[in-house]
Formats: sequence, structure tokens, C-alpha cells
Amino acid sequence: MTTQTPMIDEEQILADFNYLHTRGETAFNEVNTTNYLAKRLDEMGVAYERFDDFTGLIATIGDGRKPIIGMRSDIDALKQVYQGKTQVLHSCGHDSHMAMVLAVAAYYAKRPEAIPGTLKLIFQPAEETVTGADRVIKSGKLGQLDYLYGLHVCAQDEVAGKHAEAMIPDIATRTYWVTITGKTAHAGRPELGANVIDGFSALNEKFKQIKLDTNLPYSVTTTMVQAGESSNIVPDKGTFAVDLRARTNDMMDELQAQAFQAMKDVSVNGIEVILDGNDLSPAAIPSEPAISTMSKAITEVLGADGLVEPAPTQGGDDFHFYAYDGVAKESTMLGLGCDLTPGLHVPGMTFDRSAMFDGAQIMINVVRMTGKN
Ligand SMILES: [Zn+2]
Repeated sequence: MTTQTPMIDEEQILADFNYLHTRGETAFNEVNTTNYLAKRLDEMGVAYERFDDFTGLIATIGDGRKPIIGMRSDIDALKQVYQGKTQVLHSCGHDSHMAMVLAVAAYYAKRPEAIPGTLKLIFQPAEETVTGADRVIKSGKLGQLDYLYGLHVCAQDEVAGKHAEAMIPDIATRTYWVTITGKTAHAGRPELGANVIDGFSALNEKFKQIKLDTNLPYSVTTTMVQAGESSNIVPDKGTFAVDLRARTNDMMDELQAQAFQAMKDVSVNGIEVILDGNDLSPAAIPSEPAISTMSKAITEVLGADGLVEPAPTQGGDDFHFYAYDGVAKESTMLGLGCDLTPGLHVPGMTFDRSAMFDGAQIMINVVRMTGKN
């Protein structure tokens, strides 16, 4: 009987991790990181293409046969103060994601016939700024994907060690940057002006009254406000920011419609509300075929008890742009438990390094099992 356990080089995973771990680079500055990935792919004889004007690369194993199976690793780190020094740290674990996806590359470089189609490995920059996926999509170098898999290490309080979830239910988040204008006047003659603070407080009340017909969590929160410079003048200009969160993308659309209506409603009597910009991170879009394949891939490595229900999270990930923008038909992210403490984005974050061996095996499995439901 042949063993179902794929062969992975644990020493190499640790070597890749240790190299990348000590050399974190921030969003779109992952120059050395990209060069290292390119060097490793060269050693494996895997073809890849860099992007013309930003960091990261896409490696391809296979001749273009369908299904096209994508796998994405983020590659950026965070600038943080740790032990009294400003450093760039892999406190979100993207170093481990790269090490695991490199192990997938090494495995299939030797066994391309084991891929049910063509494998595209996306080493994506700038996940932390929620701008990398968009650039990859707009580069035109990726093309359409039938499946897309991602992965993220999970905090211990969300997924325990030796356990994994077959999707990460990230929520949708959107931030508005808004200017509000009115008409200035002397503070003693307010009726001659249009006070942006009055306009803003009316608007903030309307934001608080936004109601969706759902039991799922959502929020609309004003997070920044600035207006007025003198205590005796009616201010005619202000700025503020609003943070919107919703469990699904449809709920986010509804929140957005109500927020826009509120802004329109207060744009009267000389007050004007202007949306300067907004940043969106879409919610995870559950895909039955991708999740069921990922579930099987997990079960084969961690056993039936190792597969856990997706843990609610308030996090976001620009991975979901690939499905949201229609580039990936079916997609999901592995949430890998690895005894990670004290939490993601916390300097000094640490986890059980051997969990990367399980993670790499799961990601190897999910490719092999794709389309074989
Ligand atoms: Zn991350």
C-alpha cells in the first residue's frame, strides 16, 4: 500500500522560514523577499514571472491545462516598535505562509503530473495595506482561476494547535474619508452661516440609526472628526472618517446605501457632504467546492477531529478581492492552528514551527484533490 502522506522537506521549510523571518519588508518594499523567492524557484526549476512595477511574482507549474488552480501567499511584514527599536517584523506570519507555499512548489516541481490541471503560485505583496491583491489583478498577469486557495496562521484562541478550519470567515470592512463644507459666519450671528459641526452631528445621529434586517453583526462607527479653528467663528469646513463593518458583502452594500442616503439627507441648507475616498476589504465569499476540498485535505493530515468549524473573526484579508472581482471562481483560505500567541500583529508573536509541516501537507493535498469531489 502506498502512503497518502506527501513527502515534504521539513529542514527546507525551516530554512526558508528562518531566512524570511529575520528579513521582513513592508508593503511594496519586498525586494529582497522577492529575490529570495525567485532564487528558490530557480533551484526547483519552476518558471515564474515578476510584475513590471511592483514586488512579488507568479510561479506556474503546468502547461495551462484546466482547471487553473491558484495558491496565494502574502509576503509583506509590518513596521513596529519592539524592544525599544523600530523594526520590520513578520508578526502576521506571512514568512510561514511563504515557507509553506515554497514547499508546495518543491513538491509539484518534481511531480507535475500529480496536478489535476495547472498550478499558479501567487506571491502577493502588500496584504497589510489591502492594496496588493488589487495590483496583482490589475497587472493582467494572473488570468482567470478556477480555484484559489490561501492560508493564514490563526491565533490560538481562534483555532487551537493541531487543528485547522477550511475557511476563514473574514468580514467586509470599508472606510470612508469625508469632507463636510458649510458657510462661515460670526459666532454671534450663526443664522447667517451653515455650521459644519451641526451638519456633522446630525449626520452622526443618522449613522447611529442605521438598521439592517439581520441577526448578523455589523457596525457603523465614526472614528475621526476635525472641524473649526476659532472659538468665535462658525466653521465652514471639516473632515471625518467612518468605519463600516459587515459579515457579508451584501450587508456591506446595504450599509453603504444607507450611509450614502444619510449623507444626502444632511446635504441641505448650505451643508455639503463630499466623499473623498474609501477603502474596501471584501468579506470571505463561501465556496462549497473549495471548502469541501479543503476540509478533506485537512482531515487527511490532522484527522477528522482536527477539522474545526470556522471561528468568527473581526479580521479582513485582501485575498477575498480575487473572488469579489471575479478573477477566482471558487476560493477559500486555510486557517491553520499553530499555538500562536499572543496574537497576530503583536510584536513578539510566536507559534509552533512544526505546524508549518502540516500546513504544507494540507496545501499539497488540496491541489491534488481539486475537482475530485
Ligand atoms: Zn496576515
